[in-house]
Amino acid sequence: MTNFICKTCGIQFEASLEPPQFCPICEDERQYVPVSGQAWTSLETIQAAHSNVFTQLEPNLYSIKTEPKFAIGQQAHLVIRPEANILWDCITLLDDATIAKVNELGGVRTIALSHPHYYSTMSQWAETFGAELYIHEADREHVVYPSKYLKFWSGERLELSGATLINAAGHYDGGTVLHVPELAKGKGALLTGDIIQVASDTAWVSFMYSYPNMIPLSVAKINHILKTIEPFAFEKIYGAFGGIVQQAVKAAVKRSAERYLKAIKD
Ligand SMILES: [Zn+2]
Ligand SMILES: [Zn+2]
Repeated sequence: MTNFICKTCGIQFEASLEPPQFCPICEDERQYVPVSGQAWTSLETIQAAHSNVFTQLEPNLYSIKTEPKFAIGQQAHLVIRPEANILWDCITLLDDATIAKVNELGGVRTIALSHPHYYSTMSQWAETFGAELYIHEADREHVVYPSKYLKFWSGERLELSGATLINAAGHYDGGTVLHVPELAKGKGALLTGDIIQVASDTAWVSFMYSYPNMIPLSVAKINHILKTIEPFAFEKIYGAFGGIVQQAVKAAVKRSAERYLKAIKD
């Protein structure tokens, strides 16, 4: 039996003798099956050719990224907290060096996911660290490898010892961002995955239903994202692929949404 992993999106499936018929995440219009066709790999194969790089972004925040790039180049973030560390989003490669480094930084008690493009080997990470895994219930149908550690949460917010999961939706109905008040020198930060995507010009953000297939979001969905994050104080946004908004951040989100809405309304 093998826990097959989709090579395009990096998601691991429940153990089976034969590879799955298809990858539902990649067949969805928000992802894609490459021209070369659906391909599968395993964690052992990835471990043999890749390693993870930890980068300290601020005193209590690390990014974890796989080199050379695997799948869509996902990054996870490890938030160091006195109550219990949070792994924000997840990446496919989990190996002995990664486990040792995470444990050296205090382990992981909670894993929270922004949306299905980060599900990767989340169940294996949860099992390895004995960590609770949080996914918004609106994305329940996209889980292909359930775990006894998995908790579906509901409603607009879930508090985790002072940090908050916010169901901003947009890209996926269960699309979630994480607010951590003690980051950014106590001024607060949002970790957004690509629910709020940091643009190449990091003074701006954007929002999409599908990034690879370039399908925008509606006016109502953009307004909903803005409304859900409005009550929170934050002076940094850490995006999905290493982009960070660091200046006048709330104004940057507002300005970006206005530009976007103008573009789709005109
Ligand atoms: Zn896939
Ligand atoms: Zn995505």
